[in-house]
Amino acid sequence: MLRPIKRVMLQLLRSCGVFELAANSRWRQQRLLILCYHGISLEDEHLWRPGLYLPPDVLAQRLDSLKKGGYSVVGLSDGLERLRSGTLPARSVAITFDDGTYDFYRQAYPRLRAFGFPVTVYQTTYYTEHPYPVFNLICSYMLWKRRGEVLRECPELGINHLPDLRSELGRHKVVRSLIDSAARKNMSGPHKDELAAKLAQLLGIDYEQLKAKRILQLMNEQELRQIASDGVDIQLHSHRHRTPDDDSLFRREIRDNRERIQRWTGADATHFCYPSGVYRSHFLTWLRDERVVSATTCDAGLVTRSSDPLLLPRFVDTQGRTQAEFESWLSGIGDLLAFRRVAAQAYVPDNH
Ligand SMILES: [Zn+2]
Repeated sequence: MLRPIKRVMLQLLRSCGVFELAANSRWRQQRLLILCYHGISLEDEHLWRPGLYLPPDVLAQRLDSLKKGGYSVVGLSDGLERLRSGTLPARSVAITFDDGTYDFYRQAYPRLRAFGFPVTVYQTTYYTEHPYPVFNLICSYMLWKRRGEVLRECPELGINHLPDLRSELGRHKVVRSLIDSAARKNMSGPHKDELAAKLAQLLGIDYEQLKAKRILQLMNEQELRQIASDGVDIQLHSHRHRTPDDDSLFRREIRDNRERIQRWTGADATHFCYPSGVYRSHFLTWLRDERVVSATTCDAGLVTRSSDPLLLPRFVDTQGRTQAEFESWLSGIGDLLAFRRVAAQAYVPDNH
């Protein structure tokens, strides 16, 4: 269905009371909606990656509609358990955040706490131990800051073509060259941070100032300990934000991730979220072997009792979604009208 037509239709259905009818139905009561968020902008990140970052006022509006709509926001584990036992409250919704960025701590968590909503954070842990920005993301962000420019060739940074920052594709090619160059030289995290600093210098960006703002950085150990002791549920997202196609490497990602979460929060993490929403059928066996009891994807849908616990769908909320579209998913209508469920599994570089 064409998007504008769908938007008009959703508004119509909402004003006719169809959303309310669906939200109160027995059909909806037998389903759990899991919301998926990534980042909440500290500054202008939502303009850079609209699919990944939401401005804080949009999050506030979403939380407000959960409260005003009388939705039962349940913890992830509790919601899944009650779905299984048939005791799910009406209008059940679970809230999840992927990655565990610093902006969750600064922007999302205080708002969630004000509403008293439980939340699960799928925490990738490598950058929690390393106090600098996620390499590929900060490079992409800085290049976007200089969109519209064409730079000189800079082989010293591993960029052997004319960096044209006027298009998304041009900027992506530069990021790709930087990632490849870092991989060829087998750079460690601190070395990659030096490379990002050199790129900043080339672009005329004050890297130290950018770092001080904690843009595209993860929560540190102290922040994680604090929110966990406040009741935030910290779960698995792999240590280096990757799912290697090799049994032992894949399992090492889970173990490294779990060991750190256990150390910082005191809790045994058993729920997983596929980094970048990428999954393969053989991952499920490896996850079971690692005692993982649930795993969420970025595929769209409501969770039912017959959903595979290791392939749970979610609703990925972005600023591209209108308020009516968001409310259609809360009510269940969005699920009934969904015509594309499987998320695009594009190659996304590792965050390490
Ligand atoms: Zn992620």
